[in-house]
Amino acid sequence: MEQITLIIEDLKHLREMLASDEICTHSAVAGTILVQLYTARNEGAWLQAVAVEIEKALPAVVVGVTTVGEIAGGSSLSGKTVAAFSFFRSSQADPIILSCRPGEELMVGRSLAHKIERLGVNVKGMLLLATPLSINVHYVLRGMAESSLCFPVFGGGAGDYASMNISFVSYGSTSLSGGIVAVVLSGPELHVEQLACLGWKPLSKEMTITSTDGMLVKSIDGKPAFSIYQYYLGISNDDTFSVSAIEFPLLLQREDECLARIPVAVEKDGALRFLADINTGEKVRLGYGNPEMIIDDSKRAQQRMESFVPEAIFLYSCGTRRFLMQEDVELETGPFEKIAPTAGFYTYGEFCGTSNNLSLLNGNLVVVGLREGPPRQRKRTVTAADTIIADPVPNDPYAHKHMKIIARLLHFIEVVTTELEHSNSELARLSVTDKLTQLYNRLKLDEMLTRELCRAKRYGSRFSVILCDIDYFKSVNDLYGHQVGDKVLVEFAKVLKNNLRKSDVLGRWGGEEFLIIMPENGIEEAEMLADKLCKRISEHEFPVVKQVTCSFGIAAYQTGDTEDTLLARADKALYEAKQGGRNRIVISQPVL
Ligand code: GH3
Ligand code: MG
Ligand code: MG
Repeated sequence: MEQITLIIEDLKHLREMLASDEICTHSAVAGTILVQLYTARNEGAWLQAVAVEIEKALPAVVVGVTTVGEIAGGSSLSGKTVAAFSFFRSSQADPIILSCRPGEELMVGRSLAHKIERLGVNVKGMLLLATPLSINVHYVLRGMAESSLCFPVFGGGAGDYASMNISFVSYGSTSLSGGIVAVVLSGPELHVEQLACLGWKPLSKEMTITSTDGMLVKSIDGKPAFSIYQYYLGISNDDTFSVSAIEFPLLLQREDECLARIPVAVEKDGALRFLADINTGEKVRLGYGNPEMIIDDSKRAQQRMESFVPEAIFLYSCGTRRFLMQEDVELETGPFEKIAPTAGFYTYGEFCGTSNNLSLLNGNLVVVGLREGPPRQRKRTVTAADTIIADPVPNDPYAHKHMKIIARLLHFIEVVTTELEHSNSELARLSVTDKLTQLYNRLKLDEMLTRELCRAKRYGSRFSVILCDIDYFKSVNDLYGHQVGDKVLVEFAKVLKNNLRKSDVLGRWGGEEFLIIMPENGIEEAEMLADKLCKRISEHEFPVVKQVTCSFGIAAYQTGDTEDTLLARADKALYEAKQGGRNRIVISQPVL
């Protein structure tokens, strides 16, 4: 296949170019011609007019999309209309156009799959263009995924430079502000390679999505979702919201994949509207593009493409990447032109995946390589695009300054966030830890006891508690001093800890008294554990004082118990153990 990209100024200019030798020579030998129009002019009529003109000159399938930036020859442009001509030797391109109103998305997705099945071709890949501003494309993809078809899908959502109100897709002389256009590619020699790069970096602390409604995220950490944009970024809840928030997606981790979700609008109640799905319970962080990661990722993508040896490359890149990287965005798009003729556009959401497992992405660069036949190494001649991305002055320390500053600031924020998270978790640990013994303190024991009581009440599960108190500890202090007393307490805590199971909870209840909570265990297991501990303590050699004993009081949860009633029984049993001569265990017998 061959690929030629034109920048169209007006229809007269287009007619001249269509009559050029280059276009005529290629079209004379091509079996199929696919033309993708990417335009900044947000008018369905313009897409139609250009398509009609091309169709008059060539037997081409012409599809189009409105953009927030165009890519031609690897260069990122704005305000242009770009036509990417793909001349296929032996492959076939079948267009499908489906209009769609809100609420019909699933049905349209199913209908798309149905139409592809009816084509009866061996699909090698599909270009998909959609209007995410007017329909929920996520459900179109879900509808398509219900079929058993499986082939690579790539493309993007139509954008709107001006107002995020309306965008268009087109096929020939039909344009839609609500719908999808697909081009099904098939052919015995056709090979498609695709991949997606992200390069976004989490900045804020981790937060949890606490309520959603379709594509609306209503609350995060229990607060209106919008408030995190206001709190962390100072973005207001007005008409400028989407433009201000566009470079700060929510990042979430799904399995091994980091996904970005960009809010496109804020509702009156503070809910955020997204174009792609986010679920209740998912953990998110506010993120920002890291230019260094973006460039690194794009280098990896270039290597993959180089080894695939494509004859044409298409880029479907999220509009946010352009806003973020500014003029440096060509550092990621430009080098592809060295591999093969490269064209594409800046999107409102990208597609990359297979037809049965496809989600709407945000923030990504989707790279697609196409080839007919086996890889053929060709030396590309250097084009104008290669020179654009070269540094204006070699070794200029101020080149790409914007990117470098962002990278440094991101690093700074990341380190500060990590530091704060560390100190927060250390503070959280200290707040529940007894300073002397490093066991849980009473605060944590109270919390654990309440948790076990709730579980027992809800699920009818069992649990027991053991109170243990060192015998005649006052005399340790009196005879050897407080410091030795402290050492004995620390050692005592260690012996207890070393003889418990992972599931048992141990803490210092106060003074020389300790509490053990045994989830899922009844009185028998508690007695066995107390027996073991009693023996281990009496056998252990403690610092200075050598021998120490202690007494145990055991109680098991009974229906109707509160924290107080359960502990009162354990305490009474402990008192009886002391009265009975110490160094022993007393069980509070269940009341029947
Ligand atoms: P019993 O067998 O009846 O439990 O006698 P006891 O001496 O152990 O009980 P009592 O309640 O009379 O005394 C407890 C002692 O534990 C008194 C207190 O000074 C000491 N103690 C409590 N906390 C600490 C501590 O953190 N360090 C030291 N060294 N001693 C402590
Ligand atoms: Mg004591
Ligand atoms: Mg005591």
